[in-house]
Amino acid sequence: METARRSLGTEIVEVIRRVTGQAGGTLPLHEPEFSGNEWTYVKECIDTGWVSSVGAYVDLFEKRLQEFTGIRYAVAVVNGTAALHICLMLSGVRPGDEVLIPSLTFIATANAVSYCGAIPHFVDNEFRTLGLDSAKLQDYLQDITEIRSGICYNKITGRPIRAVIPMHTFGHAVDMDRLVEVANRYSLQVIEDAAEALGTYYKGKHVGNWGTLAALSFNGNKIITTGGGGAILTNDEALAKKAKHLSTTAKVPHSWEYVHDEIGYNYRLPNLNAALGCAQMEQLPVYLEKKRKLAEVYCKSFSEIDGLRFYTEHEFTRSNYWLNVLLLDVSIADQKDEILRIAHSEGVMVRPAWKLLHQLDPYRSCPQMNLETAGQLASRIINIPSSVNLADQA
Ligand SMILES: *Cc1c(COP(=O)(O)O)cnc(C)c1O
Repeated sequence: METARRSLGTEIVEVIRRVTGQAGGTLPLHEPEFSGNEWTYVKECIDTGWVSSVGAYVDLFEKRLQEFTGIRYAVAVVNGTAALHICLMLSGVRPGDEVLIPSLTFIATANAVSYCGAIPHFVDNEFRTLGLDSAKLQDYLQDITEIRSGICYNKITGRPIRAVIPMHTFGHAVDMDRLVEVANRYSLQVIEDAAEALGTYYKGKHVGNWGTLAALSFNGNKIITTGGGGAILTNDEALAKKAKHLSTTAKVPHSWEYVHDEIGYNYRLPNLNAALGCAQMEQLPVYLEKKRKLAEVYCKSFSEIDGLRFYTEHEFTRSNYWLNVLLLDVSIADQKDEILRIAHSEGVMVRPAWKLLHQLDPYRSCPQMNLETAGQLASRIINIPSSVNLADQA
């Protein structure tokens, strides 16, 4: 008699527990790690009273981000969503414009577009990079747009399409060369949603250097955290100055007068959070090494299980492996929910990808191309525990 194969969920749980050396207990999806100067720097803020909108850590944190990413200017803000909002405003996105974004992304990408009064327009992904499919986008734009006076119009809605936001999914870089080429052909601004991709490189250059503007996030679940936080990246000095101005209530510098020359935003990152960020930046190279090691061991171990593969960085890129990805074969995609259920009952916090944004109430009626690959990815992706400390026993 043939013995029935153990459930795939159980097999996956066993591999995760074996690789991470965590025989029992709860395994979170992604935990922050504070093993450096976090306490020292945060305590210093409290001891000196510089906890809020003034203090030296914000400037230092911005400098550390610049050094690490090779970007000329970084502007620290309260979160990644706020960073995207400012990026979009500085890209000239106005009410009634459309902005091309993936449907497979965290909702912040779409919300930031909405904050500008603009409309998300959903674009499909590709398997190779998990990011926007430039070839498909090119064909689509050729069909539905026309350029008038240097502006790309959607012939169906009559609205200008102003920008495109490639999102580096789970830390894997979008094929930026091709994306930028398409964007240039259609006069679109490129804003990188690099919220998940600090430490990710495309063709040897850190992500965020390919678009005109980019956003990072330092939320608690990202590769480094400031509690909550984000940053705007750009190589353009004028845009950097505007980003700083807009995110600090558009206050004109003066020792005592309150003069604000436009409607600004209170998006500045507090010094307390920046202090945490400075300590985390010191650890980032170690985190990246550990994450790479964890991914390598996961990759090898999951190759022994039929029906799925561990997603690895594609050609030309170096991924930060922020959240590790299992891709189920089409034939077993219908077992995804059962796998999630088993893993959770065993205390292993695996997660599906986000629900596709065009299927959520606020974004159901937005324009979209055929989103077949996004649908495939959403039905087949499982994210598995990826915290830095899990590499210690891998
Ligand atoms: C985390 C994240 C953001 C920004 O999130 P915040 O919580 O506002 O910092 C934006 N886009 C993506 C894809 C993200 O994962």
